[in-house]
Amino acid sequence: MSRKPLIAANWKMYKTPAQAQEFVSAFLPLVAGHDRDEIVLCPSDTSLAAVIPAVAGSNIAVGGQNMHFADEGAYTGETSPLMLNAIGATHILIGHSERRQYFNETDEMVNKKLATALKHKLTPIVCIGEVLAEREAGHTDEVLRKQITLALTGVTPEDAEAIVVAYEPVWAIGTGKTATPEMAAEAHLLIRSEIARRLGRNIADSIRILYGGSVKPDNATALLNQPEIDGALVGGASLDPNSFAKIVKY
Ligand code: PEP
Repeated sequence: MSRKPLIAANWKMYKTPAQAQEFVSAFLPLVAGHDRDEIVLCPSDTSLAAVIPAVAGSNIAVGGQNMHFADEGAYTGETSPLMLNAIGATHILIGHSERRQYFNETDEMVNKKLATALKHKLTPIVCIGEVLAEREAGHTDEVLRKQITLALTGVTPEDAEAIVVAYEPVWAIGTGKTATPEMAAEAHLLIRSEIARRLGRNIADSIRILYGGSVKPDNATALLNQPEIDGALVGGASLDPNSFAKIVKY
């Protein structure tokens, strides 16, 4: 089954609206007409309103980096899926390891956010991955199985097709250490087989599984040429338009 690759930029807590607009001006001509891959930019919430009109009419979609699972409420500092919808965002990162690590986001919260994203037709990019101690202890498979199972609890096969999963070994995020293409492919196979067990082979074969963790222009091709790897979630190297364009055009 052919899955259209998706390359997403996670700008984390970088770029003011002006800097985000500057990125888009430089990036648009570099990827104009490139429709082999789906391209998604995830700026911080304060830059969404600058980026969305700047990419209008192009081949680039825009997503948030986090949202609350409630439609609205007394949740100071949070962003609701309705707000993302209203502003024209189409994608949402869920359960990024930095959210799990610094903001105590649990698998249960990830599951609720996933249900909310599906309800509001935001394409969820659900991040899972093991920390170094788990890998070194030989627990990677168990951790990934548990994370994907808890994330998908209650999801129906009909809803599941819209889901994108990002395998991001936590030890590879922002560290310059990358999983080898073979290591990543092995994890992707395991994740896909767990999805198949829960939701059926056809759904599992249609869901895109991205790799994330120190993807750079010089390692993107080897990673993305793995048949099991359906795209990339890119942090540091997505902040520069030239380097992100090189990854997009791997
Ligand atoms: C990320 O933030 O999801 C990420 C993979 O970061 P980096 O590419 O910097 O490792």
